[in-house]
Order: sequence, then C-alpha cells, then structure tokens
Amino acid sequence: MTLNGKTALVTGSTSGIGLGIAQVLAGAGVNIVLNGFGDPAPALAEITRLGVRVIHHPADLSDVAQFEALFALAEREFGGVDILVNNAGIQHVAPVEQFPIETWDKIIALNLSAVFHGTRLALPGMRTRNWGRIVNIASVHGLVGSTGKAAYVAAKHGVVGLTKVVGLETATSNVTCNAICPGWVLTPLVQKQIDDRAASGVDPQQAQHDLLAEKQPSVAFVTPQHLGELVLFLCSEAGSQVRGAAWNVDGGWLAQ
Ligand code: NAD
Repeated sequence: MTLNGKTALVTGSTSGIGLGIAQVLAGAGVNIVLNGFGDPAPALAEITRLGVRVIHHPADLSDVAQFEALFALAEREFGGVDILVNNAGIQHVAPVEQFPIETWDKIIALNLSAVFHGTRLALPGMRTRNWGRIVNIASVHGLVGSTGKAAYVAAKHGVVGLTKVVGLETATSNVTCNAICPGWVLTPLVQKQIDDRAASGVDPQQAQHDLLAEKQPSVAFVTPQHLGELVLFLCSEAGSQVRGAAWNVDGGWLAQ
C-alpha cells in the first residue's frame, strides 16, 4: 500500500508537533493541507521542498464556520481529505478556582469540540472513498491528570473517549480512528511552561531539566519526528487493525 498522492489535513501545523507530522507525511508523498496561526511561509517552504502539493488555510478552529471553510478548500483543491490529524491545541495553567471562564471555553472549543467537527466533516468522504485515517493528538493528559490543567486534562480525556466511539463506529470499514498521547515535546507550547518556571529565578537549563525529571523518566523530550513516524505507521496496512487506541509516546511517564 502506498500513501503517495493521498491528502492529509494536519490542524495546527504552522509550528511544533503538527509541522513535524506534516513533514513526515509529505516525505511519504502525501499532499498536505496546513492550518494554524502565524506566518505560514516557512512551513509552506519546508513541505514544498519535499516535492508534494501543499496549501495553507488560517482557520480559527474554535469557530465551526471557519473549520467548514477549511474543509471546503481542501475538497476543492485535492478532492477530499484522506488523513485527518486533529492536532491544534492550546494550554493554560491555573488552579481550578482561578481558571478564567473564557479560557476554559476556548480550550474546550479547540482541544475537544474541534476534534468532533473535524471528524464529522472528514468521515463522509472517507466512507465514500472506502479509506481513511483519523489521528487525534491527545496527550498523556488524556489518560492521567496534573495540577493546574483542568481544561486541558478534561478536553484531552474527552478526545480519548471520542476516539473510542469513532473507532467503534468505523470498525467494519477501512477507516480507522486512534489517539496518540505524547509526553513532553519541546515546542512553543512547552517552552512557555519552562519560561514560566525560569521567571521565578531558576536557571533556564535547570528549569527544563526539572520539568522533564518530575514526570518523564527518560529525562529526554519526545520529538515531532517520533510522533510523525507513529502517524505513518497508523496509516500503513500494518496499522489497519489498530482501532480506538490511545497510544502513549511519553518516555515512560505512564509506566509509573
Ligand atoms: P504549538 O503551540 O507549537 O502549536 C500549536 C499549533 O496550533 C500552532 O500551529 C498554532 O498556530 C495552532 N493553533 C493554535 N490555536 C489555534 C486555533 N484556534 N485554530 C487553529 N490553529 C490553532 O503546540 P504543540 O506543542 O505542537 O501542540 C500540538 C498538539 O500536541 C496540541 O494538541 C497539544 O495539546 C498536543 N500535545 C503537546 C505536547 C507537548 O509536550 N508539546 C504534549 C502532549 C500533547
């Protein structure tokens, strides 16, 4: 089976994990629909260099109409989405009593509801073409909690639950749905948490080491490339009976 010529929509792919996954898929010949904020030019250049077709749409995925416009563009340009990677996500750290209500709503809208909207928009085309892969980038926080991350942990547990339901509803088809649950990956989302620790006077290198050592026994970051390679496996024939799984890639975090 070849992925050459298929189309992947990777949400939140102008930086971090999403861009890494898009690069690995593009390396396998998959055309890419990028999405995310900021200047898309570097990401577009990276993917173009790999010899596939690539477009970008800046939809804010917490707005359903914008997500629908992104899907319409992907259908017009590529005839549909074969691989959907629901990756876009945000974080905010605060105790539950002080958690800003609007921030709770924003995190649930993007980290959970957008996964539902992407899935419902992608499934009809995948069923018609009789092949599809939905990969949800959840988190170890889809399986365990940590203090200060009420909205994020709630949303990611929701994503793991939604993944199981979609895995079941597609179980007799050539469409699969799975979640990947990364531990710490050094991206802008995590750098902010390191910077917050360093702001209290800790040496930045020490702050990074402490963040890893508290949770991740390997004391080493997972990389976007590691996650991209797992997406590639889930898209392969060998991965075709992995259904509704929540697969942790976490340097041993959840083994403790
Ligand atoms: P990141 O901040 O580097 O990238 C997030 C991407 O999402 C960016 O492209 C950004 O522009 C985009 N984005 C943000 N808000 C958006 C919106 N409303 N609509 C559309 N796009 C939006 O973050 P990352 O660390 O690469 O995280 C990617 C995913 O991986 C998230 O779902 C995150 O929860 C998950 N994750 C990250 C880690 C980690 O350690 N970095 C660990 C586990 C899970």
